[in-house]
Amino acid sequence: MTDIKKLETMIQKHGFTDFKWIDPKEIVVAEWVRMKCRFGCPDYGQSPCCPPNAPPVEECARFFQEYKSAVLFHFAKSVDKPEDRHAWSRGINADLLDLEQEVFLSGHVKVFLMFMDSCNLCPKCASSRAECKKPKLARPSPDAMAIDVFSTVLKAGYPIEVLHDYKQQMNRYAILLVA
Ligand code: SF4
Repeated sequence: MTDIKKLETMIQKHGFTDFKWIDPKEIVVAEWVRMKCRFGCPDYGQSPCCPPNAPPVEECARFFQEYKSAVLFHFAKSVDKPEDRHAWSRGINADLLDLEQEVFLSGHVKVFLMFMDSCNLCPKCASSRAECKKPKLARPSPDAMAIDVFSTVLKAGYPIEVLHDYKQQMNRYAILLVA
């Protein structure tokens, strides 16, 4: 990994303080994650960034192998109502996009962001790539890219658990593939 200090200064300038560097080869990719998308998730086929609009599982796994460094971001919050989550993730994802652009402009041409939570940049999402309202900004979440977020973040020493209601604190994660 190179210029870590410079990148960490950039990350902190954008207001992110809770993050860890990880080796992208430690990202766990699993077929079961895609099955959970296909069966049981109401967003399946309803978002330009979600399966089946996301790449196949094998392609996701190969993609992560092309990187040597990545940043795992941790965000924790509890909300009163499930829908309150979207305004929170919209703000964080917009800030992460600003960071991704700055990292790109610093010379890291491969930089690629996976959002915390679903895209949520628009109050109402489109259901196809062709209809996406912000195609330059839309990014997938880690789980849309078949990442087993539970296994991946536990390996990195971060907390995550199954929650029983929205009053409990959520632990959510974004990933920035850097180089
Ligand atoms: S940019 Fe808007 S329309 Fe496109 S995926 Fe994100 S929320 Fe949906």
